[in-house]
Amino acid sequence: MTRLVTDTAALAGALTAQDDVPAGGHPHRRAVVMTMGALHAGHLALVRRARELADHVVVTIFVNPLQFGPTEDLARYPRDLEGDLALLSGDGLLGEGDVVFAPTPAVMYPSGDPVVRVTAGRIGEVLEGAFRPGHLDGVLTVVLKLMHLTRPGVALFGQKDAQQLAAVRRMVRDLDVPLEVVGVPIVRDSDGLALSSRNAYLTADERRRALSLSGSLAAARAAADEGVAPDGVLAEAVAALTGPDGVDAVDYAALVDPSSFEAVEHGATGEALLVLAARVGGTRLIDNGEVMLR
Ligand code: AMP
Repeated sequence: MTRLVTDTAALAGALTAQDDVPAGGHPHRRAVVMTMGALHAGHLALVRRARELADHVVVTIFVNPLQFGPTEDLARYPRDLEGDLALLSGDGLLGEGDVVFAPTPAVMYPSGDPVVRVTAGRIGEVLEGAFRPGHLDGVLTVVLKLMHLTRPGVALFGQKDAQQLAAVRRMVRDLDVPLEVVGVPIVRDSDGLALSSRNAYLTADERRRALSLSGSLAAARAAADEGVAPDGVLAEAVAALTGPDGVDAVDYAALVDPSSFEAVEHGATGEALLVLAARVGGTRLIDNGEVMLR
């Protein structure tokens, strides 16, 4: 049975129990997967990879108020702890000794909003950071707290939130957090839509038009394969995103360096990341993918 714990004392007890289990002659390794719940196959891919990389897995489920802006969807963000636990106990994903940590905001922030926080720096100010001020600071603050609380050897994050993954990697390096960060490829529906808890907000028509995000990635790759320069590749991406069956508004579409998230230079070649954020109806969606500039 997977153990559900909701406070830090119970979590500490469960981790001690994990540490006490002999790991078959090799050093015991714990993996953590941090989520906001409303789990789908994208989250489960992270848990599956965690299972392969470690003896014990901790999945955290916490809708972190710190990373939502005042006009964002904190109150209506989907929450389904029972459904999440059912998914996690299916398929032999989590087993004996594994832990689900699902704290309330009062457990995570017993003294109210934290006074001392992590700042993401420049990577927290561009693209996602420009449209969601303070978002990545809020993410890094809770990620570092959860790293301290769960003491993992490896922490897994999805490539779906590529800027978040890059910021976490940077934090771990800059602050010497003693663990390995592993990125997991984006899981998509069969038609190409990147899985997201926020897809639940989409009407049938909006979901159809949301496919213009993955369509935009395909258009950009096709242009890059033909040797089109970065400006032209980006123009193709934007055209696919904003066509007749496209999104309602584009927050950003950019070709960036995959680590720094700075825009690639005019005439650049090599690996770049196309990063997209757009609104379909009232829903904000993001997607990204590698583009090889020739
Ligand atoms: P969230 O619950 O949205 O905070 O996501 C928790 C973790 O799952 C993050 O590391 C995400 O990047 C990852 N994730 C969410 N959706 C996907 C997806 N479609 N494919 C891969 N990873 C994902």
